[in-house]
Amino acid sequence: MSTPLFDFTKNRPQVTAIRKRTLKMLLEASKSSYPNEFGGILREEKGVITELILLPGTISGERSALFKLHMLPVDSSVVGTVHSHPSGSCRPSDADLDLFRSFGYCHIIVCEPYDLKSWACYDGFGERRPLEIVK
Ligand SMILES: [Zn+2]
Repeated sequence: MSTPLFDFTKNRPQVTAIRKRTLKMLLEASKSSYPNEFGGILREEKGVITELILLPGTISGERSALFKLHMLPVDSSVVGTVHSHPSGSCRPSDADLDLFRSFGYCHIIVCEPYDLKSWACYDGFGERRPLEIVK
């Protein structure tokens, strides 16, 4: 795998929550991408995930093309990725675990039926990490 773009072990912000508006945006984008996969990048502000970035050149439906990491903004507020699983559970695949290990520390997977409960957040090791939904 490629080497991390940033040293995420330094000054790693404590991300503990996601803004409800941002979460709804992820769910909507995942739903409207169906049956293709949707992918994006997450940014935080003061420990809360507040922003979704769609990467230029992101192609849904094809794992290898989903995240073009060289297109990432050089920005320490980037915490990780989000993508949807149009068919199946919110459990990370082996390819997902490779991605999580290579970049970031907070990765969201969205699955059907794309409601406020059908998502999960993982750290760089593929372990579930809790995220509170805040206004
Ligand atoms: Zn996946």
